[in-house]
Amino acid sequence: MRLASAITSCIVSGLLVFSTAAASFAAPEDLPQVEAGDLDDASSLLALINPSTKLSPEDYTPKELVSVAGTSYQLRPEAADAVEDLVADARKAGHSIKVLSAFRSYQRQYSLFNQYQAKYGTAYAERISARPGTSEHQLGLAADLGYTNSQAELKEAFGRTPAGQWIAKHAVDYGLIVRYPQGMEKITGYKYEPWHVRYIGKEQAQAMADSGAETYEEYYSMLKDEAVKEPKKSQEPKNVPAVEQKKPESESDQGTATPGSGVLKQEDLDVLRFLPPYRDWSFGFIP
Ligand SMILES: [Zn+2]
Repeated sequence: MRLASAITSCIVSGLLVFSTAAASFAAPEDLPQVEAGDLDDASSLLALINPSTKLSPEDYTPKELVSVAGTSYQLRPEAADAVEDLVADARKAGHSIKVLSAFRSYQRQYSLFNQYQAKYGTAYAERISARPGTSEHQLGLAADLGYTNSQAELKEAFGRTPAGQWIAKHAVDYGLIVRYPQGMEKITGYKYEPWHVRYIGKEQAQAMADSGAETYEEYYSMLKDEAVKEPKKSQEPKNVPAVEQKKPESESDQGTATPGSGVLKQEDLDVLRFLPPYRDWSFGFIP
């Protein structure tokens, strides 16, 4: 059983393009149980989206979006509540953070990426902007938070500020995760973004923290490994070998494009000196 589980874990991990680190975790027995369909559904609070995993449909738009209180930004209701609570409590703790960005539609990302691509070429466009269909902001579950009046805003240095540290420590209490942790670019496809939080729900966020997974890609892989394929009819004990429960889901050719790996031309490098190299930044820069 243990061996079978390990094998399945490897198969599922293999579905991720950036699988090397993901394979090193064993799925704990006590993960919240989810149905496999929930993981693949674009409208699921657990949906995975990254440069190698697109949504289906690619131009998915959340059914319900609400304004985050006191801002012009929108999120799905659950995420808006969580972000509002986190910001309010952070302020009580003395950190004057605010929401800098939240939902961005596929169409918005599409036009932004095309503008960058036309102006700077594909390689550089990929460094400064997510391709349409790969930005987590499309889910309506992610927000960028900033520390007002700080040079660290939307920079890695934000993670070293008291506000950034408060978010890293307390996000889980609101069902949020810091989605792009430091040193995990090979797995997440994104550089360290201490300002970008993603809602997955309190139970899941806590379970992820307890699981030891450092990235959502790894945690998602664990959930998938343990996911129930069909709704259970009764409380039958799990006596079916794990391998039989999980379909290997043939290698969907996800491609092997490594984010930001394109060869840069001299003119790209000239531009690079003036622009932030964050793919998640599809705002605040006017070509
Ligand atoms: Zn973001």
